[in-house]
Amino acid sequence: MAVRQETNKLIHGNPASPGIVTGRAYLVERSKVRAPQKPIMADQVDAEVGRFHKAVEESRRQLTEIKEKILDLDVRRHSFILDVHLMILDDQMIIEDTVETIRKKKVNAEWALDLTLEKFDTAFKAVEDEYLRERRSDLHYVTARIFRNLLGRRHDDITKIKSKVIIVAHDLSPADTLQMNLKHVAGFVTDIGGKVSHTAILARSLGIPAVVGLEVATSLVSGGDLLVIDGETGDVVINPTEEVSHSFIERRRKVRFMEREALKVASLPAETVDGVSIRLQANIEMVEEVPSAKIYGAEGIGLYRTEILYLNRKDLPSEEEHFQIYRQLAESLYPATATIRTLDIGGDKFLENYSATNELNPAMGLRAIRFCIKEKDLFKTQLRGILRASAHGRLRILFPMISGIDELRQAKRILEEVKRDLARARAPFDREIPIGAMIEIPSASVTADLLAREVDFFSIGTNDLIQYTLAIDRVNEHVSYLYEPLHPAVLRIIRGVVQAAHGAGIPVAICGEMASEPAYALILLGMGLDEFSMTPASIPKVKKILRMSRFDETRSLVEELFQFSPAPEIEHHLQSWMAKRFPAEVVQHRQEDQVMQTA
Ligand code: PEP
Ligand code: MG
Repeated sequence: MAVRQETNKLIHGNPASPGIVTGRAYLVERSKVRAPQKPIMADQVDAEVGRFHKAVEESRRQLTEIKEKILDLDVRRHSFILDVHLMILDDQMIIEDTVETIRKKKVNAEWALDLTLEKFDTAFKAVEDEYLRERRSDLHYVTARIFRNLLGRRHDDITKIKSKVIIVAHDLSPADTLQMNLKHVAGFVTDIGGKVSHTAILARSLGIPAVVGLEVATSLVSGGDLLVIDGETGDVVINPTEEVSHSFIERRRKVRFMEREALKVASLPAETVDGVSIRLQANIEMVEEVPSAKIYGAEGIGLYRTEILYLNRKDLPSEEEHFQIYRQLAESLYPATATIRTLDIGGDKFLENYSATNELNPAMGLRAIRFCIKEKDLFKTQLRGILRASAHGRLRILFPMISGIDELRQAKRILEEVKRDLARARAPFDREIPIGAMIEIPSASVTADLLAREVDFFSIGTNDLIQYTLAIDRVNEHVSYLYEPLHPAVLRIIRGVVQAAHGAGIPVAICGEMASEPAYALILLGMGLDEFSMTPASIPKVKKILRMSRFDETRSLVEELFQFSPAPEIEHHLQSWMAKRFPAEVVQHRQEDQVMQTA
């Protein structure tokens, strides 16, 4: 009897890599391997230990082979993840613990490995952050491989995928994704994982749409099912009817049309009607984003977040790694400038192996520059990498989370030490490399006049500045209604910082999300900000509105807005002003928002 197939089953997960795509599902079997549990006799112990070592050896051989076979250069960049797995295989604690269990408890290797895994897993589980959870999954990938080798089972051969498919899996190990011929992968769908899982990072850097953390994807999807996935919203529809498929295709058409329209202004100068130029730059986290930032019209990188370099790994990045990445950044942008922000770990992203960062209130803890000053060697390694790369293009250094003058001076002193070491070693670097301070803590904004004498530029980080000024956790949805960029306190602070910077003759940039909203960008222009840095995709719409505005009218607008006190009134006045001054654009933005919200 034919079973009627359910259509239009909608499931929702974490959007991990943007893009809308339709395709047939290819299920990758990666369920947990069940370990047979058998007691063994004393005279079988040595053979069992030998069997275990052989399986570990075989796993090492397989991973090395996968690593060597990666030909695609873009994919090769991610192969360090395989090194992490090889390091886990080399970890004597795991190996010795298993061998000891085989010997002492007289159990088979599978059972012993399961017990070891359980022990380490419990330790990992006790830590609650997303990044350490990813480390836990690395441990699982590696042990699953050893189990399969012990049981003589092969991993199914995903290298053989021949036609364009959407990969559906419970979870994909980096070894899995790196083995696939990614030209045949239209999208990724997984049951588990967040925005920083390996699959998500790889998908983003290769521009493949992905939705992760769907929980039930592998139980609901069968191989060959038609899927439509939206990597922007996190929606996945299983077996969509023609009508639903069509609505997604229509949305994709609209999004592409909007992008094309926006891109028309990308190459034009960011200049107001009355001739005021503003530098529009991009916020990025990976060198791979430079080409698309340029396409969107970025005149440089105003914020290069360096945290990704430190995440999803056991060891710390070496000076050479820092150098190579920053050099690539400097060279690919030249003659434009890239602003490299030194490590901002601790707020919502954590490093492995630093228990000090396991804090109750990390946003106010040993974060960013505080952490770097304490971990001076780690800081110096990064600074050496940046300085050496500065000989290959135009770089600026930006210190995050500066809370006052003393902290800024300490950071600068460490930088001076590194400069002296490099000079002694006759290594080339830009001796005049501009130094900036992020203004994102209220104490820094209040003392901006003092800080301005010590740096070459400011960059206002409104994401944190709003959080700390209004005491609103930026990731807590319960108080998100109070997260108000137009709160008079925020506006006064920004105005004060601009005055302090200009009073000292230094430029002031903004790199928080606030700059990517066209109406807010006009206020920021009116308040005298010199540079804006934002998500690359937001640059065209901001540039378009700036090019239609006059600087003098934005100044008057700011004066008017300062007459109101409650943030909702300021917002209301701003929106009415926008509707009168730019009616067509406001309607267009509204339509764009609708397109982004509806499938
Ligand atoms: C900010 O705080 O505004 C900022 C740009 O930095 P991040 O979002 O990385 O904290
Ligand atoms: Mg910040």
